[in-house]
Amino acid sequence: MTKIFLYNTLTRQKEEFIPIKEKSVGLYTCGPTVYNYAHLGNLRAYLFDDFLKRILQYNGYTVKHVMNITDVGHLTGDMDMGEDKLELGAKREGKSAWEIARFYEEAFKKDLAALNIKPADVYSRATDNIPEQIALIEKLVEKGYTYQTSDGLYFDTSLVKDYNKLSHLPLEELKEGARVEVNTEKKNPTDFALWKFSPVGTKRQMEWASPWGTGFPGWHIECSAMSLKYLNQQLDIHCGGVDHINIHHTNEIAQSETATGEPFFNYWLHNGFLNIAGGKKMAKSADNFLTLENALIKKGINPLAFRFAALQVSYRKPMEYSETGIQQAAEGLESLYSWVASLKESLSATEMKNAQVDLGFKEKFLAAINDDLNTPQALAVLFSLKKSKLTKADLWATIIDFDQVFGLKLEQAQSFSSELKLADLPMEVQSLVIARHTARDNKDWSESDRLREAIKKQGYLLEDDQDTFRIYRIKN
Ligand code: AMP
Ligand code: ZN
Repeated sequence: MTKIFLYNTLTRQKEEFIPIKEKSVGLYTCGPTVYNYAHLGNLRAYLFDDFLKRILQYNGYTVKHVMNITDVGHLTGDMDMGEDKLELGAKREGKSAWEIARFYEEAFKKDLAALNIKPADVYSRATDNIPEQIALIEKLVEKGYTYQTSDGLYFDTSLVKDYNKLSHLPLEELKEGARVEVNTEKKNPTDFALWKFSPVGTKRQMEWASPWGTGFPGWHIECSAMSLKYLNQQLDIHCGGVDHINIHHTNEIAQSETATGEPFFNYWLHNGFLNIAGGKKMAKSADNFLTLENALIKKGINPLAFRFAALQVSYRKPMEYSETGIQQAAEGLESLYSWVASLKESLSATEMKNAQVDLGFKEKFLAAINDDLNTPQALAVLFSLKKSKLTKADLWATIIDFDQVFGLKLEQAQSFSSELKLADLPMEVQSLVIARHTARDNKDWSESDRLREAIKKQGYLLEDDQDTFRIYRIKN
């Protein structure tokens, strides 16, 4: 196996990736808070997760991918103050918090599919794992790392020696960051809620009984409880956006390592922000919030143009979003599709069957992707194929091989018109299509292939779709 190097926030170095088990990887990626649509910034984070997962798989690893769905407990303030985002969403839309959670979880999964992001093996909702979170908190209580205030049960961060090991920031700076919200009952500004009580006299829509009182889990505990539950002995890689380093992931590590006495995940990878041109971070709370639907789909732009744009930037660097940028990406993707489609259409079935992935180019491709996911370089390798002396068939095979990582659906690239009806076709093509349909019905595959080629010679592409077929005119 070729070595893979990943930049680990924990050590601040590019390190060789060595999984706990030999051939499989446990991957945990922080998922969405489902109180609104995901914005393009969030989707950049999930695209990064997908590039990473595909690269691991391309290298021959089996990946067990777990993603949480935060459907309770993520408050508007990062330091456990403010309103639950789910209840906020419910108020905004006049629905229940449960309805909001399920609606935006579905919307999120639709976005993933539109971006050709492979689904996780496990999607775990915070609300489906309350007993696991309570059990983990109980361990922390037993070990003496918690204290109670009037609004919840807190984790005492001053008891953890290496609390700042992920952020690499002086403790004073972490404390300063945490002082933005004042909670006078906390012993240290960086302490965080493990369990919050339902406010006295009110019944929350989402609340559960616990040994400390009725309430709901703090945001960080869900990721610890669910990664330990679903990945168990395979805590290899944990991902999220850079905004998670100083608080969310720092707290996940503190509470998990305290509870288990073992290291919690060996590799911590963080993606850079998507910024609106000019440098402002895209955020759900800000007015610069663009969804895949509004920014691309409604404008008739292929959502994969955003995927193509994300591949052009190193995942750790900030990515700038602008309308012109996305238009350019869409055009770039179109021209990539027409190159690949013309290759595909020039190949006979036999040529395609015998096509070979070029090992020299594959080596260059691997060197790029295994160098901390250098996708811009991997694209450069793809485009350098244009000038190569490979046969068309081998070119095709090599491109399709690379697309296992890019996920741009290059195999389906087409340079033809939208679908046509049989009646739109010239008479002689109609007869060929009908004859081919009969040949297929009779399972006469060689005749069916011959007729398909004859149709292609007339300038039409025929694609089978279960019992029926689609037909397109090939553009010149
Ligand atoms: P949230 O739904 O707010 O919990 O965020 C989901 C994921 O999106 C997390 O991994 C965040 O770090 C990431 N994220 C949030 N905003 C951005 C942004 N503007 N650019 C890139 N990633 C982001
Ligand atoms: Zn998380």
